[in-house]
Amino acid sequence: MLKTRITELFGIERPIVQGGLMWIARAELASAVANAGGIGFMTALTFQEAEDLRAEIRKCREMTDKPFGVNLTFLPSLRTIDYPAYIKICIEEGIEFIETAGRNPEPYMDQLKSAGIKVVHKCTSVRHAIKAEKIGCDVVSIDGFEAAGHPGEDDVTSLILIPATRDAIDIPIIASGGFADGRGLVGCLGLGADGMNMGTRFVATQEAPVHDNVKQALIDHSERDTRLIMRTLRNTERVIKNPIVDKVLEIESRGNTKIEDIAPYVSGLVGKEMLEDGDMQKGVMSAGQCMGLIRDIPTCRELLDRIMAQAEKIIKEKFSQVIV
Ligand code: NAD
Repeated sequence: MLKTRITELFGIERPIVQGGLMWIARAELASAVANAGGIGFMTALTFQEAEDLRAEIRKCREMTDKPFGVNLTFLPSLRTIDYPAYIKICIEEGIEFIETAGRNPEPYMDQLKSAGIKVVHKCTSVRHAIKAEKIGCDVVSIDGFEAAGHPGEDDVTSLILIPATRDAIDIPIIASGGFADGRGLVGCLGLGADGMNMGTRFVATQEAPVHDNVKQALIDHSERDTRLIMRTLRNTERVIKNPIVDKVLEIESRGNTKIEDIAPYVSGLVGKEMLEDGDMQKGVMSAGQCMGLIRDIPTCRELLDRIMAQAEKIIKEKFSQVIV
């Protein structure tokens, strides 16, 4: 058992977080992580209609009596998003934890705090972590450059970003980016984090609601098989390589790229189809460098048991051997 400020704050047994995963972090996955002793965040924007988030929150409650949260990502989008509607539903449904990402959640902080919601802000730089603490966020989830999805524009890896953030803020830190096993858990705690976030690793679990081809692709690809798209738009996304990604990069290499030039390829709706039908050549899918550490498709319970056992073994055996 590892007790940290993160296990205390969320009221969970294990300092392991399943962060928001567009289209994937639904009730099946969040409840499985919760039942395994961690905490899962369902991604609000997965539900095109805010009311559908309400139904998913209720479904998740039926699948677990443990804590879970909702992720709300503020990034450029091809559709207009009614953020206040999603927030209203979270408040009405008694959600206790919200993970914000992409942009500063300041415009919503008063509303969230007066509803008693704890805010985890996911960001990619020390300066944004400092700002998150200043505006009243309860936790910072800091995303190293290894991470899937949108790892920011500074390209600082977890090994530097976590301790640099620890030196700059006092609130608890969740480490994201590059984590997939018990070694990562010990490493991130050593670097100053209070918990470990995993995204890509949770996609390769039995409960993740995606086609088996998607899970197998995470096993078949290595740490060298991600690509960075949308750098030219300053909205970098780390994705698994495929011919569509090559096409996007080719368009970007021509210069003066506009979102309209690449929208048919990067569209989330196409990515959603890919996750459902398993055609891995169809669109783009976020994936992290930790693909190099994924070799099987366990249940969330098996994964978390294994991570904790590995972490505890390292702490008990390896550290006791080196400290004389
Ligand atoms: P979408 O279909 O609206 O857009 C597809 C991609 O294009 C997204 O990466 C989006 O950020 C980007 N994009 C859209 N308009 C843009 C613009 N004007 N300038 C630059 N980039 C633009 O995306 P979706 O799949 O429906 O996802 C909804 C939201 O969730 C998006 O904001 C997306 O970025 C975000 N998301 C976040 C993560 C993450 O790592 N946190 C992962 C996947 C998606």
